[in-house]
Amino acid sequence: MGKAVLILRVDADTKLFGLIGCPVSKSLSPFIHNFVFDKMELNCNYMAFEIEKEFLDKGIDSLKTLGARGFNATIPHKISLLEWVDEIDPYAQKLQAINTVKIEKGKLIGYNTDGPGLIEVLKAYNIQIEESNILILGAGGAARGIAMALALNHCHRIGILNRTELKSEELANAINQSKLNTLAKVVSTSADLKVYDVVINTTSVGMYPHVDETPIDIKKLSQEAYLFDIVYKPHRTKFLQEGEKNGNPIIYGIEMLIYQALIAEEIWHDMKLDKKHLRNELIELALELKLLI
Ligand code: NAP
Repeated sequence: MGKAVLILRVDADTKLFGLIGCPVSKSLSPFIHNFVFDKMELNCNYMAFEIEKEFLDKGIDSLKTLGARGFNATIPHKISLLEWVDEIDPYAQKLQAINTVKIEKGKLIGYNTDGPGLIEVLKAYNIQIEESNILILGAGGAARGIAMALALNHCHRIGILNRTELKSEELANAINQSKLNTLAKVVSTSADLKVYDVVINTTSVGMYPHVDETPIDIKKLSQEAYLFDIVYKPHRTKFLQEGEKNGNPIIYGIEMLIYQALIAEEIWHDMKLDKKHLRNELIELALELKLLI
């Protein structure tokens, strides 16, 4: 065994946190949150609960009954949760999706930390969002949160390239109608994609087990563009491997997963974390434990 040791304490005072979704069995969230509890000496425990779409109400009731203090939500609950919370943070309201819930005196308060997580990653790489042209590959749930987060952070321009163009149009319209001074447009593979400073893959292309697939021909992109793949299984997707070979700076999907989780921790415990330091420790430990395949 390496130097990594995670101490999990469970006693009569342990506070419960968790993840709800379907499937959740491959999730890294329990690893990330239990690591933070250990580091911050919080008597808390985080578990993953596989809850199917039609059982969301029962799942929430169970967590409340068990005295859980908060939970994260993943596919398929991020949008349905909007109906179940008692209060919603204005940012999650704008994104129309919830991935983090705080339970205070039985009241559910919904937040979205996916968008802020992505923004923190870009800032950590010194990417000037206000001056950037950012290309988003995909127009699904993750793309929606990312595009809105970029617009709320005054991103200069956003291009949206998706297999189903109707969905790109809907997303571009939503951004342009939000009057946030970010111009969003639909682009196709025949457009000049070398104008983009950052390219974010939000499609599931290249995700395990389809590890030999890539969402775009790397030669169409600028060699200077940051390539950010939010897919994190595998860690080094084909898109990132090809980008690295091409000389592009690359950003791994695990970064966003970690930052969104750390922001959720800050919400649950009303505290500020040294996120950069924790991010470094988490990635080192995850690599050592071979959690990033
Ligand atoms: P989603 O709503 O189902 O959207 C999937 C997107 O992928 C759509 O734009 C879809 O295009 C596109 N797509 C799927 N298969 C394709 C194919 N064969 N060719 C071209 N495009 C294809 O899923 P999501 O919630 O946005 O999640 C997308 C990915 O992001 C997943 O891998 C997820 O694990 C990852 N993710 C990572 C983080 C993180 O923290 N790192 C957070 C959230 C999500 P169409 O519209 O044409 O169907």
